[in-house]
Amino acid sequence: MQRETALLHAGYRATGTPGSYGTGPVFSSTYVTPGDPAAHPLTYGRFHNPTWTAWEAALSELDGGETVAFASGMAAISAVLGTTLSPGDVVVLPADCYYTVRVIAGNWLAKIGVTVRQAPTAGNAQAEMLDGARLLWLETPSNPHLDVCDIRALTEAAQARGVLTVVDNTTATAWLQQPLALGADFVVASDTKAITGHSDLILGHTATKKAEAAAALRTWRTQHGAIPGPMEVWMAHRSLATLPLRMERQCGTALRLATALAGHAAVTAVHYPWLPSHPAHAVATRQMIAGGTVVSFDLGTRAKAEAFLGALTLVREATSFGGVHSSAERRARWGGDAVSEGFIRFSVGCEAPDDLVDDVTRALGA
Ligand SMILES: *Cc1c(COP(=O)(O)O)cnc(C)c1O
Repeated sequence: MQRETALLHAGYRATGTPGSYGTGPVFSSTYVTPGDPAAHPLTYGRFHNPTWTAWEAALSELDGGETVAFASGMAAISAVLGTTLSPGDVVVLPADCYYTVRVIAGNWLAKIGVTVRQAPTAGNAQAEMLDGARLLWLETPSNPHLDVCDIRALTEAAQARGVLTVVDNTTATAWLQQPLALGADFVVASDTKAITGHSDLILGHTATKKAEAAAALRTWRTQHGAIPGPMEVWMAHRSLATLPLRMERQCGTALRLATALAGHAAVTAVHYPWLPSHPAHAVATRQMIAGGTVVSFDLGTRAKAEAFLGALTLVREATSFGGVHSSAERRARWGGDAVSEGFIRFSVGCEAPDDLVDDVTRALGA
């Protein structure tokens, strides 16, 4: 069976089973449990929920490891950091990883006595910092610059030194890139983005092939309480069936858009892993099946970037990415990322490719 067929059915009841296709959202904070609680599979809503179980089964199919669902990407990230690091440990972060990961490294991890080393994603620069480390954190393609590192080469270098590897797989999704199959110990993802793709919920998850590590993550979730809501989880599971379809359209249009941008006089730089001009194009095409839904580019100045965003008619000015509706923003407006004033992060949606490319070309002219 091909991956998209398996994913379509993952977490639903078997095709021969009478009744509803799936579980539907189960809204229960507490369950009726007479006598010995150990005799009951469901007891309290912070411990488990059948809606999560179905969603986790589907994500496990996608990632190729045991999944634990969380209330947000940051909750999943915190759980991996919290269950793997102890005082005195060293973590190697990408210097360009998701801003909030760098923030919690600077306050929470520093406070519990974890040393943080940083090096850029590009050029596999983190490989030079592994000696004596406990954890290697990768993010590829990186957000928002879309730099790419070699997951297999870096996990092998880490393993040789007894270092665990985590990949933040948010930008690619496990449909495009499977870090566990490339040797990573953990995957984390924000399911707020392309995995669910409808810009209507916040969720995250972790996946690992190690049963003990998955159990520790589950215990962390139960005790720290970053549990997802059943309604969001049900919506997310409903969205997952179309992930391959959405990715095919969005990545196809993204490459068209990136190519058009690369040939436009108003654009000073384009970052997209599927463009042959991307510095890590060869690595990207080896470890991903398409270039992703985000295209980043530079219009040189803040004024030009703002004029461009204001002239778009099909594209909302909004943060986040991966949704079926295209969106874009001038990234420097937030601070936090090392990007220039004219840098645009563009999230390509499911619009007809011609309509979107026309809108962008017209806005560049304006
Ligand atoms: C959005 C994002 C996160 C955080 O996810 P939330 O669901 O907003 O908590 C982490 N990593 C990357 C790469 C992201 O883009």
